[in-house]
Amino acid sequence: MITRNPCIANLKAGYLFPEIAKRRREYAASHPDAKIISLGVGNTTEPILPHINAGLTEGARKLGTIEGYSGYQDEGMAALREKISSVFYGGKFSIDEVFISDGAKCDIGRLQILFGSNAKIAVQDPSYPVYVDGSVLAGAAGGWEGTGYAGITYLPCTAENNFFPNLDLIPQNSIVYFCSPNNPTGAVANRAQLSALVETSVKKGCIIVFDAAYSEFIRDPSLPKTIYEIEGAAQCAIEVNSFSKPAGFTGVRLGWSVVPKTLKYASGESINADWNRIAGTIFNGASNVAQEGGLAALDDEGLKEIRKLTDFYLGNAKLIRDALVSLGIKCIGGDNSPYIWAHFPGRDSWEVFAEILDKCQVVTTPGAGFGPAGQSFIRFSAFGHRADVEEACKRLEKKL
Ligand SMILES: *Cc1c(COP(=O)(O)O)cnc(C)c1O
Repeated sequence: MITRNPCIANLKAGYLFPEIAKRRREYAASHPDAKIISLGVGNTTEPILPHINAGLTEGARKLGTIEGYSGYQDEGMAALREKISSVFYGGKFSIDEVFISDGAKCDIGRLQILFGSNAKIAVQDPSYPVYVDGSVLAGAAGGWEGTGYAGITYLPCTAENNFFPNLDLIPQNSIVYFCSPNNPTGAVANRAQLSALVETSVKKGCIIVFDAAYSEFIRDPSLPKTIYEIEGAAQCAIEVNSFSKPAGFTGVRLGWSVVPKTLKYASGESINADWNRIAGTIFNGASNVAQEGGLAALDDEGLKEIRKLTDFYLGNAKLIRDALVSLGIKCIGGDNSPYIWAHFPGRDSWEVFAEILDKCQVVTTPGAGFGPAGQSFIRFSAFGHRADVEEACKRLEKKL
């Protein structure tokens, strides 16, 4: 019989969110009257705003006409690639350096094909699970639990280092996954920190995979919204980004990656050329309906809607953060990101998760699920309807 890909067995048992869903189901089964509110998963809840939605509708309509019909467009619509370059990168990139995708997570899952199974990996700890799981599936040995650390280096981001890692820990010639604004901690790296990251990566021959999925939540104008604001980044960084969180496209599926032509392997060959090849070989591009929606999201009216939607979630974040702070709980995030990272020193995060569920009927995410340095933290997500968030905050203030 056929044998199982051994990489699958190396995945850490039980992906975090199914485990949370299981615990929620168990609690609901034994407390049938409980009105459970989720501040757990990072899934959007609010409808797509009208102008952007009209773009999606128009995209579908056009497909039914001779003039508007389109088929495969491997790397994406030229107009959208150009728009992304001008809106997010000041026109710095040519359209063949911007690749449209079905989402940032999907791109992250495909990216490691570029570097093969022997690539060394460094991740912020805690981190968004796909950096580790995608690496393990690509052949990097071991997750952080049980199977050891080989192939993946964890860069602890803790209260002591202000949630920015010690860059000396980054291995030579590695892929460095870096997420800012961060999921799960909500921390945003400042210009000096990102400059140090770029400098270290150039010195050590690393490629940064910079995940900017939450860049549109940044309100502090001094904080960089893309790694390419940092000098030298085009020599060492790939950026992935997404319409999922700012435009509510989690179910629509649309993202992009930037792979500058200046990026080279040790052999001198072009990383951009290979990424282009992969797009045409195993991907075939994002939905053209979604791309019309993306174009609408990036015109003046669409950008106003992105601002409105991200303002709404940031409003939720402020309510949650204020409630936690009023209880004397130390937290970060929630000001330039939709996540609040709350510290319960000396406690086990699954135990705090259970206590909040039991006392307040609020589902959160235990920090330990994102990596060892997440222990004793809880992630609160600001994705929710306002009335639910208000009710959750009331319960936290009264019962926690
Ligand atoms: C939600 C999220 C994404 C977006 O993924 P998509 O596949 O584009 O929906 C990317 N990175 C992080 C850290 C996220 O939390």
